Amino acid sequence: MKQHCKNCDYLLDAHLSVDEEDVQPQEGDYSVCFGCGAISTFDKDLNIEPLTAEQLLELYQNDDDLFLKLKNVSIEIRESKTVAIDDDTLKKLFGEDVEIRKIE
Ligand SMILES: [Zn+2]
Repeated sequence: MKQHCKNCDYLLDAHLSVDEEDVQPQEGDYSVCFGCGAISTFDKDLNIEPLTAEQLLELYQNDDDLFLKLKNVSIEIRESKTVAIDDDTLKKLFGEDVEIRKIE
């Protein structure tokens, strides 16, 4: 399941679950690159593809709460001086319930 960000080549080996259930990424789930902040989506083969402007707009129109959370994480990563965003910042943005799991 490990793969590289198509935007910056960062190795993505962890994902966040903002659901309560323990689920692996599924088609249509979103991913924010810890390296560059690019927002991607999982395709049917669970490869990540950066979102197009149209897809971002669609997400905003369908679920503006999720859109804002993803956008905030993306900005936080891009403004961060470290390569990867830290767990405390993620909890601040997504709430204490957020779980960070390694992709196997
Ligand atoms: Zn990236």
